[in-house]
Amino acid sequence: MIQHGDVVDAARLLRGGTFTALTGAGISTDSGIPDYRSPDSPPRNPMTYQQFVGDPDFRRHYWARNHVGWRHVHRTHPNEGHRVLADLEDRGIVRGVITQNVDLLHEDAGSRTVIDLHGRYDSVVCLSCGRTISRAHLAERLDALNPGFIESVLDGGTTVADVEVAPDADAVIARTSHFNPADCEFCGGVLKPEIVYFGENVPRERVERAFALVESADALLVAGTSLTVMSGLRFVRRAAKNGQPVVIVNRGETRGDPLATVKVDAGASETLAALAELL
Ligand SMILES: [Zn+2]
Repeated sequence: MIQHGDVVDAARLLRGGTFTALTGAGISTDSGIPDYRSPDSPPRNPMTYQQFVGDPDFRRHYWARNHVGWRHVHRTHPNEGHRVLADLEDRGIVRGVITQNVDLLHEDAGSRTVIDLHGRYDSVVCLSCGRTISRAHLAERLDALNPGFIESVLDGGTTVADVEVAPDADAVIARTSHFNPADCEFCGGVLKPEIVYFGENVPRERVERAFALVESADALLVAGTSLTVMSGLRFVRRAAKNGQPVVIVNRGETRGDPLATVKVDAGASETLAALAELL
């Protein structure tokens, strides 16, 4: 039974206790990172892990776009929604944040307990030897392998910030056939952003930490995600099963709505700001 409510109902439910926050793309849209699952976003076919691993041409195309797009994510800043959750953690109200975003904006805002469920855009892993390197280091290598590439894909007047960027730092660029992707400098293996893609599982240890974080609080607050993927929905199910109140703040329907104690149909950042005033 969905109880549609407003921010006052949400505050009444959360006041006097602690909560864990589960966040998604909707909290980062105010920082200029588009939400490719929101109703007004253009349809997209998300890349799958199998495509990435199985097809060298696909990987070339992917890395070419990522090489342009990641800089945009690198330059974004946290917004009020991120800052509110960090402040509430300082006040002892928020236990921590589980985020489906890979943009690290919760960390930038000062949140200390953050589980990056789907990975992080600033790190790259070798699929053969398992070593990780920073995305900034890879950028230097890709720049050396592809002199002038970024300039070549940005037509007159276009800037990196204008290139369409998806949440996984993938920019839309057509001409990528001349791009030279980099292999692992230690073993020659295939490099992949340390991001969980469709068709790939969140590491078990990370999931267990997230369940523990949910259970360490009195309630669960979901903000800015439609919970279309199981990786996030399972935390709502766990909280509901435990009898923990669940507040969902999202523009539009979510798959967790039937389990929500209070559902606020509104934007994540502005609602969190209003909520913090009432706690
Ligand atoms: Zn390697």
